[in-house]
Amino acid sequence: MNKLLKTAVVGALLALSCGAAHADAKNPKIGFSIDDLRLERWVRDRDFFTAEATKLGAKVYVQSADANEQRQISQIENLISRGVDVLVIVPYNATVLNNAVREAKKAKIKVVSYDRLILNADIDAYISFDNEKVGEMQAQGVVAAKPKGNYYLLGGAPTDNNAKLLREGQMKVLQPLVDKGDIKIVGKQWVKDWSASEAMSIVENALTANNNKIDAIVASNDGTAGGAIQALTAQKLAGKVPVSGQDADIAAVKRVIAGTQTLTVYKPLKLIASEAAKLSIQLVRNEKPAYNAQYNNGLKQVSTLLLKPIPLTKANVQTLVDDGFYTKAQLSAN
Ligand code: BGC
Repeated sequence: MNKLLKTAVVGALLALSCGAAHADAKNPKIGFSIDDLRLERWVRDRDFFTAEATKLGAKVYVQSADANEQRQISQIENLISRGVDVLVIVPYNATVLNNAVREAKKAKIKVVSYDRLILNADIDAYISFDNEKVGEMQAQGVVAAKPKGNYYLLGGAPTDNNAKLLREGQMKVLQPLVDKGDIKIVGKQWVKDWSASEAMSIVENALTANNNKIDAIVASNDGTAGGAIQALTAQKLAGKVPVSGQDADIAAVKRVIAGTQTLTVYKPLKLIASEAAKLSIQLVRNEKPAYNAQYNNGLKQVSTLLLKPIPLTKANVQTLVDDGFYTKAQLSAN
């Protein structure tokens, strides 16, 4: 074998032994499988993520499952067969992706769980905002506005591990007040697919069942908060009953300014998206990302990067403008 050929063969063997057989460390291919691009926040995640990854030399293939479990599995399989080097997944259903992840790992593809934790699967990393903290902020904001009375808890999607973490955070704040007798939890529900219309009918029914005697609603995101506030509006209770949310969706920020929603929680999406892009590319390059937490996903301790959420009320909406999340004009437009 001539020397040149020998070097090439050794090089190829080395590449095979230290990562994906096809991994192109300089220009990696990233598959981004998103639960649902029909929701405002995920469109921004996609755009920030793609911008950062492209800047770093990667190519991104995006798929949206539109809240369909089977579609997400097929899309992931499709990304695997396209030969991506790393999969970044926002799972629709946290518990059904173990086979898809196993297939990816067999093909030496790294797997990153984005925003929501994939359970019982051999994922390489998890990146999110501190969801328990988000839950605490939601409850604290509502308690500050209504320290006593009848509370209703509007949870997230039962298929989303974040919904559980949010509830844990909320209960950390609420349980001592329940024990003291200040607060009574008159009802709680998970909202399928985080659907705003489902949230609206849940709150309509809760108001009827309680003769409108609901004093506060801890809603787990802005979409469901919007549904709850529509139900309150029909009973002329909007603005009287504090409601929480998260995401700083444009409609929610406007409600916060108008006083019908008490708070939202701002999660700088540019930060999570760009950190996730960096982390994914580092994994392909066999570099060590900087983690700051560990989460047990039922199968393993998952290396995690947790980012800090920011509670947002009327008093600090300016943060969104300062941060470039919205322009002043967007916040004041009707
Ligand atoms: C995210 C929230 C989002 C919700 C619905 C959760 O997992 O953390 O930001 O509002 O899903 O898409």
